[in-house]
Amino acid sequence: MHLLVVEDERELCETIVRSLRRLAYSVDYCHDGEAALELLDVEHYDLVVLDLNLPLKDGMTVLRTLRQRDQETRVLILSARSEVEDKVEGLDAGANDYLAKPFHLAELEARIRSLTLRRFAQQSVQLSCGELCFDTRARSASVNGQPLTLTRKETGILEYLLVHQGRPVSQEELIEHVWDNSVDNFSNSIRVHISSLRKKLRAELGYDPIHNRIGEGYLMEGEEA
Ligand code: CA
Repeated sequence: MHLLVVEDERELCETIVRSLRRLAYSVDYCHDGEAALELLDVEHYDLVVLDLNLPLKDGMTVLRTLRQRDQETRVLILSARSEVEDKVEGLDAGANDYLAKPFHLAELEARIRSLTLRRFAQQSVQLSCGELCFDTRARSASVNGQPLTLTRKETGILEYLLVHQGRPVSQEELIEHVWDNSVDNFSNSIRVHISSLRKKLRAELGYDPIHNRIGEGYLMEGEEA
């Protein structure tokens, strides 16, 4: 899942970004409304955590501009203004949720989880494919209850393929949703991470649930009959 955090309080921004990256989300961030609109123009985010009081362009302007062309990207507003009118204005302008400051990180994480999964009408916190399970709350994968030790990238790839199982996912799409600007995008090939993930899955499952569809991408499927 590719997230954008727009927050001008540097320390808060850093705390949020660090906690979300720890949960294997791919996270970009910026500190003002203009930078946010620039990023939203070129990147494809699953969800934006958007502060309202921002320099250069405020959060409401960012939200309204985004909504003129994009209804899909989830937007979670963060605001110190907890008045009902602000909340209503934000939701009317197309925000999907609203969280008043100060908040607990655990609550922010829960809202993000709910918003990113709601998009796929996923009811449970468990994503699964055969004996393979991914707990979206604990952010951990297991096979028959045995935990798998995965890197942040492998976790991100696995979650994305599980959410979209049944259809092929291209490398470009994975890069868009699993990678962020925190690392050199080109230093580590996505193939390396996928091959290492597949090795771990094969070792535990006894088969490889990730299939190559030539020209289409990677497809997550249960054991073939
Ligand atoms: Ca602010």
